[in-house]
Amino acid sequence: MDFEYSDEQRLIADLARRIAEKYPPEYWREKDERHEFAEEYWRDVSEAGFVGTLIPEEYGGAGMGMEEMIVAIENLCRYGTGMAGVWYLMLTGIFAALPIARYGTREQKEKYLPRISRGEIEGCAAITEPNAGTNTLRIETYAEKKNGEYIINGNKVFISGVDRAELMVLVTRTIPYDETPRKTMGLTLFLVELPNKSVKWSPIPKHGINYSHTCEVSIDNLRLSEDDILGPIDGGWYVLLDILNPERMGFSAGAVGLAKLAISKAVEYSKERKVFADPIGSYQSLQHPLAEAYSSLECAKLMVHKAAWIYDKVHRPPSNPRDLNEVVGMARQYKEVGDATNMAKVVAVENAIKAVYWAMQIYGGYGYAKEFDVERWWREINLLRLAPVTQQMALNYIAQHILGMPRSYR
Ligand SMILES: Cc1cc2nc3c(=O)[nH]c(=O)nc-3n(C[C@H](O)[C@H](O)[C@H](O)COP(=O)(O)OP(=O)(O)OC[C@H]3O[C@@H](n4cnc5c(N)ncnc54)[C@H](O)[C@@H]3O)c2cc1C
Repeated sequence: MDFEYSDEQRLIADLARRIAEKYPPEYWREKDERHEFAEEYWRDVSEAGFVGTLIPEEYGGAGMGMEEMIVAIENLCRYGTGMAGVWYLMLTGIFAALPIARYGTREQKEKYLPRISRGEIEGCAAITEPNAGTNTLRIETYAEKKNGEYIINGNKVFISGVDRAELMVLVTRTIPYDETPRKTMGLTLFLVELPNKSVKWSPIPKHGINYSHTCEVSIDNLRLSEDDILGPIDGGWYVLLDILNPERMGFSAGAVGLAKLAISKAVEYSKERKVFADPIGSYQSLQHPLAEAYSSLECAKLMVHKAAWIYDKVHRPPSNPRDLNEVVGMARQYKEVGDATNMAKVVAVENAIKAVYWAMQIYGGYGYAKEFDVERWWREINLLRLAPVTQQMALNYIAQHILGMPRSYR
């Protein structure tokens, strides 16, 4: 067992830290208040090679794995960006890049991956629907095959980054839920170039992370060809099983980073703030919760690294990404990574929330003022109980697949 960063990972951590320090909390405060995308930050993380971390070198990426991605994310979040460190990388560097790198045809990889690596195009993933929510298998967006093309209609909700994306990974049904013999069959992923007159979006005003828009999307007679399909026809669920774990790992690493940022600011403040004879940081009632949360976050970090380590070892691109049987068969190997990822997500998020809560408490009334950023981190971190997967669904996974308890829902 080796707990040390490799030389390469150390370089990534240092670089991420330097970039994050260039974009301190006050920068994100302003972006959040103005609802403005951070163009210059995006250029910097693209130039640093972080967007292309998971993209093979032959397509202009760094050819690295999830371990390196989470080192970058944690350090970006920890040293200044808060949630933004994971958010922007997630939409393009994981959501868009990873499925193409692993399930794209040679033509799709050549067309999109070099441009993603250079930060020229942004991506998004459209999974969630108003009538499906947590139950992705229930999606209703339908791709109907007619005269050799696919005509797609449906509605998506909470699609982050679609307003800027030039590439959307769209999850559809190609066999209706009620007609498929196996519920996990009949989902198909498409790559959609944006803007497209058949795809309309409107932002949903939201609680935090306002340096990025999250939108409702309507899809009206979108016409695509078979060449736009990503992965096997009808086997999209198995592609999702592969790429949604990295998404959870990324957000867990982001939670750890953000929480440590909040803790470090609260500690600094607590050493200066005096209301009775001594600084408030000398009070054990404030020290212990931070110490406890910090310890749990370190444990969560180890679990995220374990999940990423297994992922990098186990997950290999299929030899033929259109081969349904091969892709379905590969999913059997994902249990270990799913186990580690879900446990990491539950622990990282709960303890990050605890840490930010206590950071806010330490700031007293100032914790409620925008000027000290902690109220923004509070808004940011609470999202992770709801997305990318809710804590309940992660716990359902643990109860069912690790503890062997009966599935509690139909
Ligand atoms: C800011 C933001 C950004 C997002 N970005 C994206 C994006 O880019 N792309 C995308 O596709 N989606 C995105 N989402 C959607 C997100 O993944 C979903 O909101 C999330 O999966 C939950 O779905 P829902 O909101 O429909 O909740 P519901 O499915 O309606 O669930 C409501 C509540 O019921 C609980 N619940 C449901 N079923 C069970 C069960 N079986 N057992 C126990 N509890 C259960 C849930 O845990 C939750 O607490 C985003 C959401 C937000 C808020």
